[in-house]
Amino acid sequence: MTGLLVVVSGPSGAGKSTVLKTVMEKRKDMYFSVSATTRQPRPGEVHGQEYFFMSFDLFHQMREEGKLLEWAEYAGHCYGTPFEPVMNRLSNGEIVVLDIETKGAMQVMERYPSAVTIFLTPPSETEAERRLRGRGTESEEFICSRMEVTRSTFRYIDRYQYIVINEIIEESANMIDAILTAERARTGRNPGLFAEFRK
Ligand code: ADP
Ligand code: 5GP
Repeated sequence: MTGLLVVVSGPSGAGKSTVLKTVMEKRKDMYFSVSATTRQPRPGEVHGQEYFFMSFDLFHQMREEGKLLEWAEYAGHCYGTPFEPVMNRLSNGEIVVLDIETKGAMQVMERYPSAVTIFLTPPSETEAERRLRGRGTESEEFICSRMEVTRSTFRYIDRYQYIVINEIIEESANMIDAILTAERARTGRNPGLFAEFRK
């Protein structure tokens, strides 16, 4: 079976990490891409687990060496997807999920038109803000600047194939699980199946 590249975007506080973790618990064929970033770790975040935290210089060295599949600046920091692990997992037939912001997502859509693209949104702007505050990891100033970015994120919503409104974590996870199962079953993604009868 061929691998599946999946892009998930949505504003901060939408619940992307929470929902994707729940999907990962259901599926064993999924790999969550760990991004490189120049931002500081939040309390509890572990290098190599949530992100590879690195200096600006190291990030741009990786970029110049072509080691990033895509990258973008977001809220004053750089974020990028390391190329090699994604390609290795895809060639292994796995589902590779990228939780990335919209500019990076546009680069992936252009480069890999077969990618599955999902926009995960909170039910309302107020709820996104409430969730960001509830997460308790950000300063008030940071929350205000993220809410600005949130508004601009919605401009890209029509570029995505699927929209998931995250009201209840379990339901959103089930929906993404269903999307992945259906995408895997598409005839176009299984060109080798029954090849002898297709002639
Ligand atoms: P993102 O990765 O999109 O920035 P997170 O997954 O960190 O968002 O979620 C932000 C906060 O909202 C977390 O505290 C999380 O527990 C909470 N959260 C996520 N999804 C829901 C939901 N459906 N209902 C209520 N709270 C949620
Ligand atoms: P956070 O700092 O809240 O973890 O992430 C901020 C934003 O950066 C989120 O929208 C997240 O999806 C995005 N992001 C995380 N990793 C990457 C990446 O590798 N590339 C891009 N383009 N965006 C990323």
